[in-house]
Amino acid sequence: MPPTSPAPDPAQNAADGPFPKAELHLHIEGTLEPELAFALAERNGVTLPYATEDELRRAYSFSDLQSFLNLYYALMAVLRTEDDFADLTHAYLARAQAQGVRHAEIFFDPQAHTARGVPVGTVIEGLTRALDTAEERYGITTRLIMCFLRDESAESALATFEAARPYLDRITAVGLDSAEVGHPPSKFAEVYALAREAGLKCVAHAGEEGPPSYVWEALDVLGVDRVDHGVRCLEDEKLVARLVADQVPLTVCPLSNVRLRVIGELADHPLPAMLEAGLLVTVNSDDPAYFGGYADDNFTAVRDALNLDEETLRTLARNSFRASFLDEPTREAYLKEVEAHGRG
Ligand SMILES: [Zn+2]
Repeated sequence: MPPTSPAPDPAQNAADGPFPKAELHLHIEGTLEPELAFALAERNGVTLPYATEDELRRAYSFSDLQSFLNLYYALMAVLRTEDDFADLTHAYLARAQAQGVRHAEIFFDPQAHTARGVPVGTVIEGLTRALDTAEERYGITTRLIMCFLRDESAESALATFEAARPYLDRITAVGLDSAEVGHPPSKFAEVYALAREAGLKCVAHAGEEGPPSYVWEALDVLGVDRVDHGVRCLEDEKLVARLVADQVPLTVCPLSNVRLRVIGELADHPLPAMLEAGLLVTVNSDDPAYFGGYADDNFTAVRDALNLDEETLRTLARNSFRASFLDEPTREAYLKEVEAHGRG
């Protein structure tokens, strides 16, 4: 299914457009649309295993995690130069702007590129070249989060961190992603300790497909400031109490959860229960080119499927800035925009 374009939104003041929001769970590699994949393939002389854009677009309607990952890693072959990473980032920022995103904290996976012979410096220089223009060109503030692939070894994560050391001033946090089950957070305790020593924030995917114990490990072993996904925390009352007491943010990705079969249907999504429990929940797009929608597409989808009212959407928008790594004055300015939105 191709990404949806912004839909008309009767619950919002049309003149105001979508709610201003922060996107906190977004893999830049997951924003690669078929058109750009073909354009970059041509520029780099890479042959894709799809004859036409239409054929590729049909491949985006995968139905399970493995077929998604196969496509995801096959398409990464088109990303080779700084220009490629800059173009990918500009394409995302333009879409994010149209979706009301005012602040984006963007994941990238260096190991997915270094494994193909693309140096980490090429990746970071390309991404930051585009991000450096984001405020002026798109009105979006940004942060960069370097993720480790958890199905790779702890040694590989350490080597990646060392290779990225010259660029740490461009990186706000480290994260942990890819196939969760069988790869608990504790496997990466050492590299997270180094990241904290270097003054970086820490986040990790946990409790998406993995059990609540992985969320406990992310909190207590890795010392994360934020948990990515975390929907399975609801299976553990004590964990919910801890997350509520500490107001640890959870970056929930509703359309992703449906496409990857973490939950059956959007109408069954636990988002309302999570809000009800007092969790600091945010709504994000994960890999939007593949999962059927960008930030506001996710807002609109949960609003419609779960009958969320305007004030609940405002809470989600407010939470997105509260959960961000912004400095306080900028956070306060964005929160004022959220309060003013749709109130003429
Ligand atoms: Zn993710």
